[in-house]
Amino acid sequence: MKIAGTRILVTGGGAGIGRYLAEQLLAESADVAVLELDAARCAELSAASGGRIRVQPCDVSDAAAVDAALQALADAGFEPDVLVNNAGIIHSEPLVNMLSRGERVHARESWQRVISTNLDSVFFVTGRVVDRMLARRCKGVVISISSIAANGNAGQSAYAAAKAGVNALTRTWAKELGAMGLRFVAIAPGFIDTPSTRAALSEATLARLQQQIPLRRLGELEHLYLALRHVIENDYLTGTVLEVDGGLVI
Ligand code: NAD
Repeated sequence: MKIAGTRILVTGGGAGIGRYLAEQLLAESADVAVLELDAARCAELSAASGGRIRVQPCDVSDAAAVDAALQALADAGFEPDVLVNNAGIIHSEPLVNMLSRGERVHARESWQRVISTNLDSVFFVTGRVVDRMLARRCKGVVISISSIAANGNAGQSAYAAAKAGVNALTRTWAKELGAMGLRFVAIAPGFIDTPSTRAALSEATLARLQQQIPLRRLGELEHLYLALRHVIENDYLTGTVLEVDGGLVI
């Protein structure tokens, strides 16, 4: 599929990776829409793109909100050919915190919040978008931003489980819907140099990490865009998880 002229929906496109991908796609003449939870980020992105990115406020972990947002986009003439499931939150918490004087076990609330934002959202948005694609006989592409944490990452039970779920859904849907011409691919970044990465990790942790990465540096946003472009354009790619991690294995 060519990028120019294609209608591409990016979730969580108000900041970080999603915003970068949305702006690069727009620069390559895609028709881009974004679903974003944060109202201030919605307004900022809309203004920064001169209204050329269609920004729809939406909590993608809320199925009813997703229905309403997709309908609002459809009413404005936008039906996605490509979906990029990017919205997510990074969360670290040990299964048991032996140093805690209070509750020692991983909180159920944070487990549910991470699973809901990172996995339920992919299930809700993809189901609805694919339903619309099938009704239009559109041979669309669904790309979900996973993480190498899906391989199992100490201190990230909920996040690792959610991203492993995203990889499983990607392979499942590739098998279930390939005969209809639909493609499903996950992109699993390693450590990318974004504000959220720098907020989550100390300088010392980042320095140690860089020594473990075979290429000895964090990934750049551009590396993820190059992967996304490849997935959109290569019509024989489906059911796979593309790791963009500088060779880091966890
Ligand atoms: P970010 O926090 O910078 O941006 C995420 C955006 O998603 C924000 O604008 C946020 O408001 C939005 N969002 C959050 N919950 C939402 C919801 N329920 N509905 C709609 N929008 C919502 O994060 P990021 O670093 O850009 O990460 C983007 C994706 O990449 C996530 O899925 C994350 O797990 C994945 N990832 C990031 C890295 C990294 O190094 N930054 C590495 C691996 C995977």
